[in-house]
Amino acid sequence: MQKDEIQKLLKFSISEKEAIKSLNLPEEVFLPLFFSIRFGGDWSVNKNSKKLMSVKEKVTEYDTDKKIGYTLEKIYLFVNPVLLKEEGVVYRMEKCGNKNERELVKRPYSVIVDGKYILEAVLNPKDLKIAIKHMKGPLKFHGPAAYGASHEIDHLNDIKNPKIPFWDFEYVLG
Ligand SMILES: [Zn+2]
Repeated sequence: MQKDEIQKLLKFSISEKEAIKSLNLPEEVFLPLFFSIRFGGDWSVNKNSKKLMSVKEKVTEYDTDKKIGYTLEKIYLFVNPVLLKEEGVVYRMEKCGNKNERELVKRPYSVIVDGKYILEAVLNPKDLKIAIKHMKGPLKFHGPAAYGASHEIDHLNDIKNPKIPFWDFEYVLG
C-alpha cells in the first residue's frame, strides 16, 4: 500500500468512526455494514447475543442520451431482524460464502422485515458519499434484497433449508 493510500484509508476510518459515534450505538453493530461496503454482498453476524444483518439493494440510474450512469447501493443494517411476512416462492441458484459450490434453494419473492434498530446507508459512487440515517421499520423488500434477507435470517437462526446440488441438474440438447 502506498503512503497516500494509507493516509486516505486513515481519513476514511476516522470519518467512519465519527459517523458511528453520532449514532450512539456500539461499534460491533456496524460489522455487517462494513463488510457490505468493503466486500459487497449481504452479511450476517451473531455478536454479543445480538443478531446483525446487512442487506443490499442496488439501483442503477442510467441516462440513455448521455450514455452514462451509476449504481446506487442501499444497504440496510438490522439489529435482531425478524421476518414478519414472506410471499411467493422463487427457485434459484445461490452460493453461500462458506460453501464452494452453488446450490438450488427456494426463496420468498417478497419479505417484510423489522428489527430492533434499522439503519440505511446509501452509497453513491457518483459523489463518493455514504449517506446514513435511522429507519423506522418494518421494511419491505422484493427480488434480490428479499432473497438476501431470507438467506441471512436463515443463517442467524441456524435454519438449514433443503438444498439441491448442481450435479442434480442434467444437460439437455435444445
Ligand atoms: Zn450464506
